[in-house]
Amino acid sequence: MVVSEQARVSLVTGGSRGIGRAICLALARPGDVVAFNHFDPDEEAATETLKLIEAKGAKAYAQKFDVSDPAQVAAFVETLVNEHGRLDVLVNNAGITMDNLLVRMSLEQFERVLKVNLVGTFVCLQAAAKVMMKQRSGAIVNLASVVAAIGNAGQANYSASKAGVVALTKTAAKELASRGVRVNAVAPGFIETDMTAKLPEKIVEAMKATIPMGRTGQPEDVADVVAFLCSDASRYLTGQLLHVGGGMYM
Ligand code: NAP
Repeated sequence: MVVSEQARVSLVTGGSRGIGRAICLALARPGDVVAFNHFDPDEEAATETLKLIEAKGAKAYAQKFDVSDPAQVAAFVETLVNEHGRLDVLVNNAGITMDNLLVRMSLEQFERVLKVNLVGTFVCLQAAAKVMMKQRSGAIVNLASVVAAIGNAGQANYSASKAGVVALTKTAAKELASRGVRVNAVAPGFIETDMTAKLPEKIVEAMKATIPMGRTGQPEDVADVVAFLCSDASRYLTGQLLHVGGGMYM
C-alpha cells in the first residue's frame, strides 16, 4: 500500500516507552504510518504503544533490534519504504545511561553508551537520509540532552554522547538542507520516565531546584516540540537545538 500525499510515514527509535512512546503518539494522525523499534525482548511495552498508535487511526509497526546495528536498521527502513513508498520523518530517540564517576567508569560503560546514543543516531540518520535526499523532503529530529551543554557528574559517557548528537545534527543539517531535508534536535531537561526514575532522590531534588518553571517535565512536553519540528510549521528551521526543560538551561 502506498500512502496518500497527505499521510506521513514516520520512524521513531526507542518508541516502546517513555519519551519515544509519547513521540509516536504525537506524530500519529489518522491515515499516517508510525513505525518504531525497541531493544528489550519483553514485548509488553511495545505492544501497548502499538495499540495506542492504532487507537489514533494510524498504522503501526514495531520491531526489536539494536539501533546501532546498521544491517537491521537498513532492513527496517527498506521494508518501510518498499511498503509505503516513502519516509517523511525520523526521530532518533533511543538512548541509554550507564552512570558512574569518571574515575570508576569502565571503557565498556563509556563505549556502550556512545554506541547506542551517538553511533545509533548516525546509523539511522544515514539510512533515512539516503531515502529522504532522493524524495527531496524529510524531517529528522535527534534527542540530545541538557547535560550536553552543562555536563553532569556521573555522566561522562552520556554527556559526551549527547554533545556528539548536537554536533552531528548541525553537520547533517548543513549537508541535507539543499535536498529539502531538515535536521533539528531537542534537549530535554528532567523528564519523568524510567530513565530518571533510577536516579537517587537526593540528585532528583537537587535537579528540580534548578528548574525555573518549578516542575519536572512529562514525556508529552518533549513530544509536542518534536512534533512541531517534524511538521510544516517549522519549515524554515534547520540545524537548531531546542531546550525543553522548563528553563533549566537558557
Ligand atoms: P527510557 O524511558 O529509558 O526509554 C528508552 C527507549 O529507548 C526505550 O523504548 C528503549 O527500548 C529504547 N532503547 C534503549 N536502547 C536501545 C537500543 N539499543 N536499540 C533500540 N532501542 C533502544 O528513556 P527516555 O527517558 O524516554 O529517553 C528518551 C530519549 O530522551 C533518550 O535519548 C534520552 O537520552 C533522552 N533524554 C531523556 C531525558 C529524561 O529526563 N528522561 C533527558 C534528556 C534526554 P526497550 O525498552 O525495548 O529497551
